[in-house]
Amino acid sequence: MMRLVMLGAPGSGKGTQAVKIGEAYGIPAISTGDILRAHMEEGTELGERAKTYMETGDLVPDDLIIEIALERISRKDCVKGFLLDGFPRTVEQAEALDCKLARMDVRLDKAINIAVDSEALVCRTTGRRVCRDCGASFHIKTMPPAVKGVCDECGGELFHRADDYEETVRNRIEVYHGQTELLIGHYKAEGLYASVDGMKTPDEVFEEIQGILGPPGK
Ligand code: AMP
Repeated sequence: MMRLVMLGAPGSGKGTQAVKIGEAYGIPAISTGDILRAHMEEGTELGERAKTYMETGDLVPDDLIIEIALERISRKDCVKGFLLDGFPRTVEQAEALDCKLARMDVRLDKAINIAVDSEALVCRTTGRRVCRDCGASFHIKTMPPAVKGVCDECGGELFHRADDYEETVRNRIEVYHGQTELLIGHYKAEGLYASVDGMKTPDEVFEEIQGILGPPGK
């Protein structure tokens, strides 16, 4: 049983680690960005509302994302725990999550930050290619797939996220420093904060995270 929040700038590798942690610890890895992208692909009203913000790299309004995230953690599969990847991103979202968890009479176990240098974030993000089917991430230089444009995991098509182009990436990083970084103080005050060195390889980062959480299955 584990309830986790992943902090970290765009390109810090939190999506990659979220999937690894979810599989190892048997908890659903919930990405609010993935939920919003699915709405956009389906052309729902919510997707339409989120689109303009996402395309420029700005945050969607708190009320909209809070409702989505809190509804998601109320589902049955989250009874045994969950990992939130990309939520909360503002202090208001963090406070809404705290309230919801208090009403559920549960608490977070950890908020894990993945620390990465700013310039590395731009390079990692602009070179990222993501699988349309399973969400696996690759990088055109540092982690290319065996066959260009094809996912090693499931054979799905790899695509370049619309918000992974440089101008938008720089805005997303600025938004992170302006709003999301404040959450470090929020979770430090709650005694839940832990940080790992995101400049290491994905496997090394995952090892560090396991050192914080304890081995899976215990
Ligand atoms: P991500 O896939 O986590 O990088 O999210 C992609 C985009 O979705 C962000 O740049 C925001 O526009 C939007 N988004 C995802 N999660 C949130 C959130 N918690 N609050 C506001 N906007 C979000």
